[in-house]
Amino acid sequence: MAKNQPECAHVQEALIARPGEAFALQDRPTRDKDLFPDKDDAAASVAADAVKIDELQDRLYAEGSRALLLVLQGMDTAGKSGTIKSVFQATSPLGMTVKAFKKPSAEEMARDYLWRVHNAVPRKGFIGIFDRSQYEDVLVVKVRSLAPAEEIEKRYDQINAFEEHLTQNGVTIIKCMLYISREEQGERLRDRLEKPHKRWKFNPGDLDDRQNWDDFMAAYETMVQRCSTPHAPWYVVPSESKTRRNALVGRLVRGVLEDMNPQHPDPGHRLSEFVID
Ligand code: AMP
Ligand code: MG
Repeated sequence: MAKNQPECAHVQEALIARPGEAFALQDRPTRDKDLFPDKDDAAASVAADAVKIDELQDRLYAEGSRALLLVLQGMDTAGKSGTIKSVFQATSPLGMTVKAFKKPSAEEMARDYLWRVHNAVPRKGFIGIFDRSQYEDVLVVKVRSLAPAEEIEKRYDQINAFEEHLTQNGVTIIKCMLYISREEQGERLRDRLEKPHKRWKFNPGDLDDRQNWDDFMAAYETMVQRCSTPHAPWYVVPSESKTRRNALVGRLVRGVLEDMNPQHPDPGHRLSEFVID
């Protein structure tokens, strides 16, 4: 890794919300200046990491006993789908699943809020990506009062317990909040209105969420504070530069996979006994 491309561990250190410590969003940057000073280095980094992530996913599949779950949260336009496209550009579609969580269906509303989430957890050998997640149930649901306050209050502990259960059962979890400012979102929403190929993405409901920006930020802050745990930490990713955002998430995912260090299994028979004619 070149000098101007930070080590995975260094990116982890810089972006993690340390479990148990006080957390304030205002202490976090929305734009990265330090980790990737140079945009070209960031582009090269994510390209290399994407290839490495594919190799590591192959090994994860061969090993067949564990999974990786990447949770992405962020306000509209923060770049959840762009990040997925970039970081997993080289990953075999056969080895990954992506689940985008929308407003719950009638079927989903008839169950507890974690039912649909548990059902989307990646199987062994896979990388699973959540575009939105269980955290919507303490974010939009809280801001729009879609459930009683005392029920929402219990969800932080419930989610921590759920994630601990998953990690104890072979699922490594990494959670990234893609952080942008309200001003940056304004630019990006204007872009959606102005550019014909982006208009389809514009949803008037996004403007309601934008009106409640401060409430959303307060909900995000509480979410990170209460749910960054040793088994499933939150990382706050400055996301106003798309290239650097991709590079940072790439470094985090690669670092976690390298730490998992999946191994090819022993084939279980003496290969020298086989002759291919
Ligand atoms: P998008 O990700 O832009 O396609 O939009 C999905 C929408 O579904 C967002 O406005 C989310 O806030 C909303 N959503 C996701 N999960 C929930 C939930 N549990 N309750 C209510 N709305 C949700
Ligand atoms: Mg949207």
